[in-house]
Amino acid sequence: MEHSASQQSGRHRSMLAIVFIISTAFFLSLGCSGQTDAKPAGHNKEFPVMKSAQEWKDLLGDARYRVMRLHGTERAFTGEYHDHKATGIYVCAACGKKLFSSATKYDSGTGWPSFYEPIQEEAVGESRDESYGMVRTEVHCARCGGHLGHVFPDGPEPTGLRYCINSISLKFEDAKD
Ligand SMILES: [Zn+2]
Repeated sequence: MEHSASQQSGRHRSMLAIVFIISTAFFLSLGCSGQTDAKPAGHNKEFPVMKSAQEWKDLLGDARYRVMRLHGTERAFTGEYHDHKATGIYVCAACGKKLFSSATKYDSGTGWPSFYEPIQEEAVGESRDESYGMVRTEVHCARCGGHLGHVFPDGPEPTGLRYCINSISLKFEDAKD
């Protein structure tokens, strides 16, 4: 009798362990989906400028839509502005919001236009990006949520930040205009 009672309580303990593991996995998976929802992509987050996927596609065209709404990345050294040195303002290619000044642009050697800070802190929003097995900080236009690129902590002074931006997410406005 004693033997069988202890066997039963052993089974009971392993059942409890299984329930614990299942519920922990459940809450962890909730945590993951929560982070996915927090991504900007323009799908879930509210922005002052909101459009349907079809409206964005019509407005931006395929290549720009793929980067700005689907978080694509243009190939290095292929964009319009990685080696662009004129004086002026870079605005959001989707909504025209002023994002970066040529005064903070520098040659990072990466093949993407790089800036050490946005024109105004509020102009650019940030989100956590865990795609491709990396943890990066994604940056987007604060007005329309359009994906711009990422910010890394290896930039020059005075901020030490590198805003690594897709050319196709930007439009340059000459200072003379
Ligand atoms: Zn925008």
